[in-house]
Amino acid sequence: MAQIIDGKAIAADIRREVAAEVAALSSTHNVPGLAVVIVGSRKDSQTYVNMKRKACAEVGIRSVDVDLPEDISETALVAEVHRLNADPAVHGILVQLPLPKHINEEKILTEISIEKDVDGFHPLNIGKLAMKGREPLFVPCTPKGCMELLSRSGVTVKGKRAVVVGRSNIVGLPVSLLLLKADATVSIVHSRTPDPESIVREADVVIAAAGQAMMIKGDWIKPGAAVIDVGTNSVDDPTRKSGYRLVGDVDFGDVSKVAGYLTPVPGGVGPMTVGMLLKNTVDGAKRGIVE
Ligand code: NDP
Repeated sequence: MAQIIDGKAIAADIRREVAAEVAALSSTHNVPGLAVVIVGSRKDSQTYVNMKRKACAEVGIRSVDVDLPEDISETALVAEVHRLNADPAVHGILVQLPLPKHINEEKILTEISIEKDVDGFHPLNIGKLAMKGREPLFVPCTPKGCMELLSRSGVTVKGKRAVVVGRSNIVGLPVSLLLLKADATVSIVHSRTPDPESIVREADVVIAAAGQAMMIKGDWIKPGAAVIDVGTNSVDDPTRKSGYRLVGDVDFGDVSKVAGYLTPVPGGVGPMTVGMLLKNTVDGAKRGIVE
């Protein structure tokens, strides 16, 4: 049976470490600040933003709340980002995605100063992540969380075969680049890959980020492999009061019989994403200190 990686417990450790760093910084320099920008009133975005703001408060990071109307113009949003770029009390800027359709997401992300790009989505930060011998100022939170789950569980990736299922800009691609930087031999499987199971079966480390409920079965997995399930999919469940439950991209019951390590959903990667955002904010604040 696989060892279950407890993302909640690891994320709690990270929050404690961040809180200690925040306390030290706040007493010697200034309180780290994270601007969390939300445009419009999408329910899911509001839930994520509230979660991030609450997490900031819990570790002592000052959350700078920027709530903007759905019909804000692109020019006005750019001006808002520039204002936050110039604010010395703000060490990180997070613009909650997706943005309304009339706003060019790429343009907005590019306007965020790379020194405050705590989500790590600025093309310069992603470019540095992709290049040998270069270090990005920030690494995207969910991919960084996956790597942290592996290292804190004692799984080494150096010299191992890693397969990432998914190639999105926010998870699949950056996590592949991180694995490559950590000296794994990396393959990426996507929706046009024929026979994905034969490729996944070669992996010592599998990162599942396809958004396909329980797609990865036990017979896709090499015995003993470490499997990190990023997928968060809601499926109907009439036995629940809510009528649904969350499942990963991995068939947990089946894969747990074969894998060496496995993350649950929920309680695996999810809590790490916010933990890494807090860590990135503190790192940004530390970098800004001129002794
Ligand atoms: P996207 O939809 O942007 O990307 C999905 C990727 O998976 C694409 O590259 C797609 O391929 C690939 N894919 C889709 N179907 C298949 C298939 N049948 N076989 C192989 N590859 C496939 O999703 P995200 O990357 O944003 O998110 C992935 C999952 O992770 C989602 O469930 C999301 O909810 C979850 N998530 C969880 C987070 C957390 O904190 N726990 C944070 C972010 C995401 P192609 O490129 O060819 O279309």
